[in-house]
Amino acid sequence: MKTDVVVIGAGVIGGAIALELAKAGRSVVIVDKGSAAGAGSTSASSAIIRFSYSTHDAVLMAWESASIWENWADYLGAIDPDGMARFIRTGYLVYRTAGYDGESVRVIWDDLKIPYEILNADQLRKKFPALDANSYWPPKRIDDPAFGDDAVGELSGLYDPLSGFMDDPMLAAHNLINAAKVLGAQTRFREEVVAIDKESSRVTGVTLASGERIESAIVVNAAGPHASKINKIAGVLDEMNIRHRPLRQEVYVAPAPNGFKLEDNVPVVADLDTGIYFRPHLGGTINLGGTEPACDELHWIDDADDWREETTVEIWETMMLRLARRMPDFGVPVSPSGIGALYDATDDWVPIYDRSSIDGYFMACGTSGNQFKNAPMAETFIRLLIEAAEAGRNHDTDPISYIGPRSGRAINVGAFSRLREVQNTSGTVMG
Ligand SMILES: Cc1cc2nc3c(=O)[nH]c(=O)nc-3n(C[C@H](O)[C@H](O)[C@H](O)COP(=O)(O)OP(=O)(O)OC[C@H]3O[C@@H](n4cnc5c(N)ncnc54)[C@H](O)[C@@H]3O)c2cc1C
Repeated sequence: MKTDVVVIGAGVIGGAIALELAKAGRSVVIVDKGSAAGAGSTSASSAIIRFSYSTHDAVLMAWESASIWENWADYLGAIDPDGMARFIRTGYLVYRTAGYDGESVRVIWDDLKIPYEILNADQLRKKFPALDANSYWPPKRIDDPAFGDDAVGELSGLYDPLSGFMDDPMLAAHNLINAAKVLGAQTRFREEVVAIDKESSRVTGVTLASGERIESAIVVNAAGPHASKINKIAGVLDEMNIRHRPLRQEVYVAPAPNGFKLEDNVPVVADLDTGIYFRPHLGGTINLGGTEPACDELHWIDDADDWREETTVEIWETMMLRLARRMPDFGVPVSPSGIGALYDATDDWVPIYDRSSIDGYFMACGTSGNQFKNAPMAETFIRLLIEAAEAGRNHDTDPISYIGPRSGRAINVGAFSRLREVQNTSGTVMG
């Protein structure tokens, strides 16, 4: 089999790249060892669409991507007969606490004219009565005797009214793959890439576990938590200045109390004061995950094919009781409902969208638990990187940039280089 491009991975990132390259008139084959689009880490995503990152390029990328989620059907250009994912606008509240003042984000929002309000504790209580506006800093585990200590002060918050979430991340990936297929892309599910084929320093295709070869002058690694494995077999790990590796996480669903249901106009909340993020979800529920506070152990995984999918009682209890501190009417459920999942986390929690030293081999990886929202820009960056390489431009020494249509500002694609120095970020999923 011969094609212009092989995309490894049919998650939200691979799906978006496949669509963009199919729109550009290239023949695309998407290979995924799973059985369906978005069935990898995308299926576990909280799918929050926000614009709060520590660096200018990351905020711009999210701001530009958000307008695509809001106009999803137009962007796809095809209605998926299996249903369409929807953007649900809720707004986004990030508490300002002792360990996180949100200033770097606020300065960038001012510069980009992204609308927001600063709310003091009284304003927070009035606007979101279901939420306690006290500070319990620092975040603690439940085995810490200080877990239930009294508040140490009050919080303020940054609130942006335009953020939200996509109601079904796996369906969003399905929508992308469907739209790519309408334009002629082909899918190969239940097929595993086991080798990246090369001749001298140029990629020539991939070999599948079945022994079949797919010939292609362009291969894009969008294998999510398996991406470092693919980079290893491609032989490009040593040239990278930024590491990326699987990090196990747990996310939960719990019944929402009255006052924090979707219809109550409540926001997505980043609560670095207690170490959780949460958002309202359909069906009267809340989605909840952690923000990697210093007290929580990080569970790095050696092999993305060998890890525990079941949740852990201690982590679940900690998360639920943290939520109960922030939301006094929350009734802790009697048993956990959640899943284990993997991030592909980099050293600085900034993703990698880049070329490599192998001509024709590109990577869209290191998505660090925060790149669902950026899939619509990741695909543009990969297309531009491919076009730049074909035009003989060396992005490593002469980085490309992209002018966002919403902001009119240039995003430096070099900010996502595998060769970058570790960036000064929050060092967590907040990016
Ligand atoms: C619990 C959780 C919550 C998150 N919440 C948010 C959020 O609120 N907002 C946000 O913006 N981001 C969030 N993220 C991050 C975001 O969801 C991910 O960055 C994104 O879904 C990654 O997509 P992907 O396509 O790169 O990877 P995946 O969806 O994992 O897709 C990779 C695919 O590659 C395939 N594959 C792997 N190896 C091979 C191989 N050798 N051959 C063939 N196929 C292979 C896999 O089967 C898989 O389907 C979250 C992530 C997690 C895990």
